[in-house]
Amino acid sequence: MINPEDLETVRERSRIEDVVGGHVTLRRGGGGSLTGLCPFHEEKTASFHVTPARGYFHCFGCGEGGDVFDFVQKINNISFSEAVELLADRCGVQLRYTNSDGPRTEPGLRLRVLEANKAAAEYFTEQLNAAAGLPGRQFLDGRGFDQDAAAHFGIGYAPQGGHELRDQLRTRGFRDEELVKAGLIREQGWDFFQGRVLWPIRDAGGSVLGFGARRIFEDDRMPAKYLNTPETVVYKKSQVLYGLDLARANIAKKNQVVIVEGYTDVMACHLAGVDTAVASCGTAFGEGHSRMLQRLLGTGEVSAGEVIFTFDGDAAGQAAAMKAFKDDHIFAAQTYVAVARNGLDPCDLRMADGDAAIRDLVAQREPLYRFVMRNVVSRYDLDRADGRLAAVRAAAPLVSSVRDKSLVRGYVSDIAKLVGMELEDVRAEVRTYQRSHPRNERPANIPGDSAPMPPDVPAATPGLRLPPPDDRELEAERATLRLLLHARDLFDDDFNHLTIEDFTHPAYQALFAAITAAADGPQEWSARVLQAVSDPTLEQLVITMMVEPELREPTKVYAAEYSAVLRLKPLAREIADLRSKVQRMDPEKEPAAHAKLFARLVALEADRKALLAVATGA
Ligand SMILES: [Zn+2]
Repeated sequence: MINPEDLETVRERSRIEDVVGGHVTLRRGGGGSLTGLCPFHEEKTASFHVTPARGYFHCFGCGEGGDVFDFVQKINNISFSEAVELLADRCGVQLRYTNSDGPRTEPGLRLRVLEANKAAAEYFTEQLNAAAGLPGRQFLDGRGFDQDAAAHFGIGYAPQGGHELRDQLRTRGFRDEELVKAGLIREQGWDFFQGRVLWPIRDAGGSVLGFGARRIFEDDRMPAKYLNTPETVVYKKSQVLYGLDLARANIAKKNQVVIVEGYTDVMACHLAGVDTAVASCGTAFGEGHSRMLQRLLGTGEVSAGEVIFTFDGDAAGQAAAMKAFKDDHIFAAQTYVAVARNGLDPCDLRMADGDAAIRDLVAQREPLYRFVMRNVVSRYDLDRADGRLAAVRAAAPLVSSVRDKSLVRGYVSDIAKLVGMELEDVRAEVRTYQRSHPRNERPANIPGDSAPMPPDVPAATPGLRLPPPDDRELEAERATLRLLLHARDLFDDDFNHLTIEDFTHPAYQALFAAITAAADGPQEWSARVLQAVSDPTLEQLVITMMVEPELREPTKVYAAEYSAVLRLKPLAREIADLRSKVQRMDPEKEPAAHAKLFARLVALEADRKALLAVATGA
């Protein structure tokens, strides 16, 4: 909590006309108010009013309004306290906090980081056009982007030397520690980005929050093809979207947003006239992104607006679609999927077939749920009666998970058509599923909630046997894997010290192995796991678990608890074995060996105690 006096000081010192004026050109209107074009909706005549005397803004076009904090919050997509901190930085107020939380960031830092990012972006774009930037320009040429396009998107080039950016920004008055906090240089002083093409990632108001960077040299020291600014006070990967600054007004105007996978896809779409395209940056498109976009789409009416995902047609794309389906309820808009017939992403599609092909791609979208159902159903052998039944049973949980009950009837009839079964039979299967999984007779999220495949029904491709999803004995294993699939970030780099021995079922062991083997890459996490999966049944398991709901709000604590629960079991076995060994020993005869085993036992007991504390939330 921020001290209320400080809050008022910040409000007094932050003149709303100055703050708004940074985003909107204001002209003198009647009655002491200023008017301009609303930054929250597209308009040609000014209906956006600012009243400096009262410290308020209001738009007669879209109804947005509030005080200076509301404006900063909305325009930057940040929380209330972040808005206060940002303004406090700007007007030099040292905030006091009424509880022990303390300031989330040191005073003034956010503004310095934004300034450093801006200076870095300018430097990078200069470098792209300098002699050293030739490899960057060649990369862009190769993807059909000319100089105008590069300038339009503010694309830059980071030189290879290792200290150029640091040296440049030092001359502009930035201290090394500020550059480290901006994610522009590393602790040891090296430039964070070296020898890469860079895309500036901006907020809706156009401030540079960070960068996405692509490798262009074979001998790049960093293995990842794409590198993003690390989390900083302004760059939160779950809350940034590439292209948002360019797309924002168009999204509001057209009531449509197109979600693509990469930076070059965003560029290709905008250049082809699909100017509502955005992409998540170095992370899966998630709930935070959905909420940001929903705010831009505006009105909360159903069927207001369209959200169009473009996915690859492969397994990775299907997993991404499943994930989108799971988060679908966040959008009041209708959600669609657009997949190019030849499986090309928008950037390649534009190169191959031109701008019109991208517009066609978006025009030929298909409802997301139908895409998902089609993919689930296609995994079964529909020429056989048991295959058709298994397909319907696989689709039933998806239908049941749809929150808008008025849609269920249509979905059921779609499944009947897709599978080739009588409508009545499909309806009966869905009802059977719902009866055996009544929503109100149990906590909303029981593991195995959405298990699409009864274990006794063979999938089209036989392989590894899957455990029943509701096996109590295996609950912690499944929950941990599910959390790993949903939110890899909640686990540390070392997967919270989990090992394959912590899992007992062969399918879960195989899935964990695939998870640890998943490579770095620009695609979303679940897609990379799917790539590491070789067995089709395991693939099915991943996709099933993607749509299973979490028991609780996924947090790091939750992940730590589950990891601890899992690790406790093998540890308990090891302790029991060791204890029995120690007991069977004669310490007089072999004192050294005994002392060694005993010390190990004590260490393991200490581990166990620590894990127990984590597992029980103590
Ligand atoms: Zn407005």
